[in-house]
Amino acid sequence: MDLTGERSQKITPRHLRRHAYLYVRQSTLRQVVENTESTERQYALRQRAVALGWPIEQVVVIDRDQGHSGASAADREGFQQLVRDVGLGRAGLVMGLEVSRLARNSTDWHRLLEICALTETLILDEDGLYDPAHFNDRLLLGLKGTMSEAELHVLRARLRGGIINKARRGELEIPLPIGFVYDGQGRVLLDPDQQVQETIRAFFQAFRRTGSATATVKAFRDQQLLFPRHVRHGAHKGETLWGPLEHSRTLWLLHNPRFAGAFFFGRSRQRHTAEARLVYERLPREEWTALIPNAHAGYMTWEDFEENQRRLRENAQANGADRRRSPPREGPALLQGLAVCGICGDRMTVRYHQRHGTVWPTYVCQRRGIARAEPICQSIPGRGLDHAIGRLLLETVTPLTLEITLTVQHELQTRLDETDRLHRRAVERARYEADLARRRYLQVDPANRLVADELEAHWNRALQQVADAQETYERQRHADRLAVDADARARILALATDFPRLWHDPHTPDRERKRMVRLLMDDVTLIKAADGLTAHVRFRGGATTTLTLPAALNAWQLHETSAEIVSLIDQLLEAHTDGAIATMLNARGYVSGTGQRFHRRIVLKIRRSHRLRSRYARLRDRGMLTQDEIATRLDVCVDTVKIWGRHGLLRRHLCNDKHACLYEPPGPNVPIKMQGRRLSDRRRRDLLPDQTSEVQYEA
Ligand SMILES: [Zn+2]
Repeated sequence: MDLTGERSQKITPRHLRRHAYLYVRQSTLRQVVENTESTERQYALRQRAVALGWPIEQVVVIDRDQGHSGASAADREGFQQLVRDVGLGRAGLVMGLEVSRLARNSTDWHRLLEICALTETLILDEDGLYDPAHFNDRLLLGLKGTMSEAELHVLRARLRGGIINKARRGELEIPLPIGFVYDGQGRVLLDPDQQVQETIRAFFQAFRRTGSATATVKAFRDQQLLFPRHVRHGAHKGETLWGPLEHSRTLWLLHNPRFAGAFFFGRSRQRHTAEARLVYERLPREEWTALIPNAHAGYMTWEDFEENQRRLRENAQANGADRRRSPPREGPALLQGLAVCGICGDRMTVRYHQRHGTVWPTYVCQRRGIARAEPICQSIPGRGLDHAIGRLLLETVTPLTLEITLTVQHELQTRLDETDRLHRRAVERARYEADLARRRYLQVDPANRLVADELEAHWNRALQQVADAQETYERQRHADRLAVDADARARILALATDFPRLWHDPHTPDRERKRMVRLLMDDVTLIKAADGLTAHVRFRGGATTTLTLPAALNAWQLHETSAEIVSLIDQLLEAHTDGAIATMLNARGYVSGTGQRFHRRIVLKIRRSHRLRSRYARLRDRGMLTQDEIATRLDVCVDTVKIWGRHGLLRRHLCNDKHACLYEPPGPNVPIKMQGRRLSDRRRRDLLPDQTSEVQYEA
C-alpha cells in the first residue's frame, strides 16, 4: 500500500504529537524462545512508525505479555496498559504484527476498536494503516478480529483432532509408565533394564498372591524391596530412581492397562469450573477415547488385568467409604472429619463396630500406615471422647458467651485491619526513604569520598529499615486472624439459643449433631498417652481449650454398672419387682453400662451378676407364703386364695413381673372354711380391719 498516500489522508499533527504504541505479543514461553523471527518482525514495525513521522523517543514498546496466554484479557497486564493509555488519549497510533491478535478474543478486540475510534487513535499492522473512526476501516478491523478468533479455534480443533485420530489408531506417542520404552520406530517395548522388569513382575505376583494393594506394599516393605520410577522433569529427567513403594502408586500401577500391553487414551477429562479452577474427571471405560488391548508387550495378560480390577473393586467395597475425608456422614462419631492426630498431624478417620446393638466409634490415624504398610499411628476409642465433647459444647455454647466472643472477634478484626494499614504504610515510607538515599548516593561525585561514605551508610540504614518494616508487617499479617463473616455469625447465634434442646433431642440425627460440632469447632487434636487422652479443641474464631480424659477403659470396664446403681437396685428390691425398678431407674435418668435404657432383663442380669437376693427370696425371708401354703393354712382351694387376694381380703405382694404373688400370713382370727359363703360386713372387718369399703362377693 502507498504509505505516503495514507499518511496524507489519515495522519494528522494531532496524531504525531501523541505516542505510538508497539504491542509485542507471543503467546507461550516456547514461542518466545523459538520464534525469534517473529519478534524481529514485530520490532521492525517500530521503524515504520518512525517512517510515518513519529520521533523514535515517542515510540512506546509494550512487551510485558510475553510468555502469557492470550486467551483472556483479565490476566494480561500489557494489554490492560495499552487499553488504558489509548483511553486516556495518550496514543496516536497502535501497532502490532497481526494487529487483530492484539486481543485473542473478539470482545477484547472490539472494545479496543471502540476506544480507538473515540480517541482518534490509528492502528497499524504489516498490511496497512487503519483509522477505526472510518466505517470501512472499522469493518475490516472487525473482520480481522473475527477471523483471528475463528482461526485459533480451527487450529485448536485440528490439533486436537489429529491427536485423537492418532490415539484411536493407537499410534500416539505418550509418556510410558515405568517398565516400558519406545524403540526407534515408536514401538513400545519392555524396559531392557532387567532389574526394572523383574521388580515389576515381582510386584504383580505379590498382588496376585496377597490379593490387596495394602498387602502388596507390606510385602515390598518386609522384603525391603525398592520400586523404580522415572524422573520426568528437571536436570535428572529420564533417569530411574528407586524408592519405597507407596500405596497410592500401587493402585495407580494396578489400574494402568498399559501393564497388560493395552494402549489407552482419554481416561480422564479436564474441565473448567465456574471459578475457573481446572478439575480432572475420571471417565468410565466406555467413554475413553481409545482402549486397544494387546497393542504391545506387557507384564500380564488382559484377562489378568481384568481379574485384578475385579479384586480391587471388591476390596474397595469391603473397606467401606468412610476412609475418605468427607462432609458429615451418617454414623454417630462426632469428630468424624475434625479429629487430627497429635502425633503425626494427619487427619484421623473413623472406624465403627457394633456391640449390644450400639455403634461404637474409634478414631484411627492410619493413612500413613496404609500408605507404607506400617503399624497405625494411634487409635482412640471414640465414645468417652464424644461424650466429653458434647458436655464441653453444652457448657460453652450459650447465647451470651457466643455473643461476647463474636463481638470481641469483630473488634479484633477491625483493629487488625487498622494496624495492617499502618504497617503497610510504614513499609512504603521506609521504601521511599531508601530510594531517596540511593539517589542521593548515586548523585554524589565519587571523588568526594567523605560525603559518599556517609551517604552510603545512610542508604544501608534505610535499606535495613525497609527490611525491618517489611518483617514486622509480614509477621503481623500472619498472626491469627480468622474472620467470622456475618452469615456464619447469624447461624452460630441462632444455634446457641436452641442448642441444648436440639442436642438432647433423640430425634436429632447424628448428621445434624455433627454439623453443630462443625459450626462451632475447627478441629480437635488428639494425643493418647498411657495415663489418659488429651484433646486440644480449636473453636471457630480461634479460641482453644484442652480436655484431658482418663485413659480409655477396656470394653468390660466400660460396660460395668456403677456401684451406685447396684446399691440402688439392692434397696429397691425390698419393695419392687425387676420391671418396676427398670422403670424407676429410667425415670431418674440412669443408663446401663452399655448406655441403654433399663428394662427388666437388664435389672435381672445386674442382680444375678452382683448376687443380689431376689425379691422372692426377700419376701420369703419376711415370712410370706405361697399360694399353696396359704390355701393349706386356710383350708380353702387355691382358686379361692386367688379370688380373695384379688379382692383385697388377703394381702399379697408381687414377687416378679409375671403376676406371681406371695401372701402375707393371715391374722390369727381368720376363720377356717369360708368357701361358698357370703361374707358379712362384720366378718370382713374382722379379717381385714383396715378395709373400709364395701365388698360384694359372690362365690
Ligand atoms: Zn498419626
